[in-house]
Amino acid sequence: MTTRRAPSIVVVGSSNTDMIVRLPRLPRAGETLLGGEFLTAAGGKGANQAVGAARAGGRVTFIARVGRDVFGDQAIAGLRRDGIQVTHVSRDPAAPSGVALIFVGRGGENSIAVAGGANGLLRPADIRNAAKVIRSAALLVVQLETPLTTVAAAIETAVHAGVKVILNPAPARPLPRALLGGVSILTPNETEAELLTGIRVTNERAAARACVKLRARGVGTVVLTLGSRGAFVADAAGGRIVPGFKVKAVDTTAAGDIFNGALAVALAEGGALHDAVRFANAAAALSVTRLGAQPSAPTRAQIDALLSRGRQRVR
Ligand code: ADP
Repeated sequence: MTTRRAPSIVVVGSSNTDMIVRLPRLPRAGETLLGGEFLTAAGGKGANQAVGAARAGGRVTFIARVGRDVFGDQAIAGLRRDGIQVTHVSRDPAAPSGVALIFVGRGGENSIAVAGGANGLLRPADIRNAAKVIRSAALLVVQLETPLTTVAAAIETAVHAGVKVILNPAPARPLPRALLGGVSILTPNETEAELLTGIRVTNERAAARACVKLRARGVGTVVLTLGSRGAFVADAAGGRIVPGFKVKAVDTTAAGDIFNGALAVALAEGGALHDAVRFANAAAALSVTRLGAQPSAPTRAQIDALLSRGRQRVR
């Protein structure tokens, strides 16, 4: 029997503690609403993607910044439990760890306030300190909850070493052309694709047009996620939908993050693009059947089980 050596994936990004209050409805400005139920869960797009990749079978190093507080302690302990290398998760001496205060109403509607704290202080110098790890990775994964200069430094380090880059352009913000030019695979959702291209992604044709526009800006491959419908995949060979898996959705928080983590693992293992997207669709579909961000990330065995059952959504 040969043992599979897990591919090495570096994720650069944010770590937050999500503090969630479930209420009958969202409170209005100035209102005190009783009857809430409180829970905390580890979150932050970067950390979610790192955990998604680790559970899907990747050997993951996470580069991030948290505060010297109890939230930072808990975030690091959680990452360690998932076997993630945390040497490059630094502790900021002054800033607090990132937190997201989330109200969720009975219908699933939410209202979220994020205080990024130490995430905003992850600097290009932190990337330079970790350059060796990035250069020896199979793949780099980045998103946009940390400063753009830091994201750009990470991409540049990877590009110089010939390491492929997945950029999840979330939360949506305009991006300079130079930065997009270094991206191997861009993974916007419909909202992010619209912000970057001005095209409203309302159907498959619009998705195809948005992908053409993004590829014209220097991105090699675009994987545009379409919620329950799966993802539209476009590269030099053309574009088509890879359908999603039919599941009972309970909480779609972090679906995109789990998708990106799993996609990174499948590609780093040498999988073909469309197979890798199918793997990512399966992982993300499982995540929407569970509550919370990181608690919802499935294991490799669970993803493989769904793939072998193989019931994709009929388009
Ligand atoms: P984001 O979470 O970033 O808004 P999407 O809503 O496009 O991104 O979801 C990302 C991926 O999660 C989709 O491509 C799909 O694979 C999966 N997904 C999301 N919602 C569902 C759902 N209701 N049923 C099955 N899969 C889903």
